[in-house]
Amino acid sequence: MNFELSEEQKLLRNMARKFAEQEMLPSLREYESRREVNHGLLKKMAHLGLRGIHIPKEYGGAGLSYSDAVLIWEQLSWASWTQTLISLGDSVLAGTLLLNAANEEQKQRYLPPMCRAETFVAVGAVEPNAGSDASAIETTAVLDGEEWIINGSKNFITGGGIADTVIVLVQTDKSLGPKGISLIAVDRKTPGFSSADVAFVGGLACNASNLTFEDCRVPKENLIGNVGKGLRSILTGVNTARLFISAGAVGMAQSCMDASIKYTKERRQFGKPIAGFQLMQEAIARIQAEILSVRCLVFYAADLMSRGQPHGKELSSAKWLASELALRASTEAIRIHGAYGCTDEYPVAHHYRDAVLTTILGGTTEMHKLTIGRELLEINAMI
Ligand SMILES: Cc1cc2nc3c(=O)[nH]c(=O)nc-3n(C[C@H](O)[C@H](O)[C@H](O)COP(=O)(O)OP(=O)(O)OC[C@H]3O[C@@H](n4cnc5c(N)ncnc54)[C@H](O)[C@@H]3O)c2cc1C
Repeated sequence: MNFELSEEQKLLRNMARKFAEQEMLPSLREYESRREVNHGLLKKMAHLGLRGIHIPKEYGGAGLSYSDAVLIWEQLSWASWTQTLISLGDSVLAGTLLLNAANEEQKQRYLPPMCRAETFVAVGAVEPNAGSDASAIETTAVLDGEEWIINGSKNFITGGGIADTVIVLVQTDKSLGPKGISLIAVDRKTPGFSSADVAFVGGLACNASNLTFEDCRVPKENLIGNVGKGLRSILTGVNTARLFISAGAVGMAQSCMDASIKYTKERRQFGKPIAGFQLMQEAIARIQAEILSVRCLVFYAADLMSRGQPHGKELSSAKWLASELALRASTEAIRIHGAYGCTDEYPVAHHYRDAVLTTILGGTTEMHKLTIGRELLEINAMI
């Protein structure tokens, strides 16, 4: 057991932190208020290899392990989770599922330009009547000669409004239930495709969209992986997204505590810094202790994934505890900052807006509790 980062890992972590402070924080307000993705920032991330962190070098990525990636993801989200969210949609979610399910030609077509931040790929699974229960999707793909005809809709898709390509989870044979679900890539220029942006409470410097597919015809070759294996393939991407969300949530929580420690030393009430009041110290000590323990759990889940070991309950535990911690830490940080914390003058309100999202995407807290329960008790209480 070794809790010490290697010299290389320290360099990676420090590089990511420097980038977060120098490039991400200064542009945050502007892009949040415009509700826009900062494409210039993504290009700079690509230049440093911060886009496809876990994607192998032969596909344009940095080729790092999950253990290295969590160090970087934590530092980037320390500055602003919303500006990392677009990478969750494409290089993390789409990138991982393409790596695991796509053929060589598809990998070469999508992954290198994605890592260079030249093109974006979104993943559309969730629908109006299918959220946590992905097997309930109603979007259909019917093979007609050399083309698939796709009809249906997808909700809350990260980057759906700017993506060049959307990998869509579709029913290719309803009679087979979950085994009749597949993945098909749809170019956004395809006639019949449209998107409408969604205004979430947080994630303001990202893009989320609802997508509609009306008789969208795409080539037969756009199938990603095998017919009927869509749910299994998408899970590989969702798993990596869960790790990314967990690391990011720890970064947000740490950022909230760093700001709170600074503020309590500066802010004076009743003739002394509020840092001297025991209740202020209790709040900071309690959250910081939680961060220390959850960070270890996230590193442990990343280590298991890096070594190809089973990691179901560890990853679900990390996702559940880290996202709920980000929510608690940001609420506590706002309280500590008083009314000033409710403004964008201090770096806590944006984490508060984003933290609640981390408890929903990549599987809700309830679904992760049930996943752990299923593994331990061998009873599926989800259905
Ligand atoms: C910021 C953000 C980005 C997203 N990006 C994407 C994306 O890129 N692609 C994509 O496809 N989707 C995306 N989503 C959608 C996300 O995957 C879904 O919101 C999530 O899976 C939950 O589905 P739902 O919102 O329909 O909630 P529901 O599934 O309707 O759940 C509502 C409530 O019921 C609870 N619940 C549901 N089933 C059970 C059960 N069996 N037992 C106990 N409780 C239960 C849930 O935990 C939750 O509290 C994104 C969402 C957010 C917030």
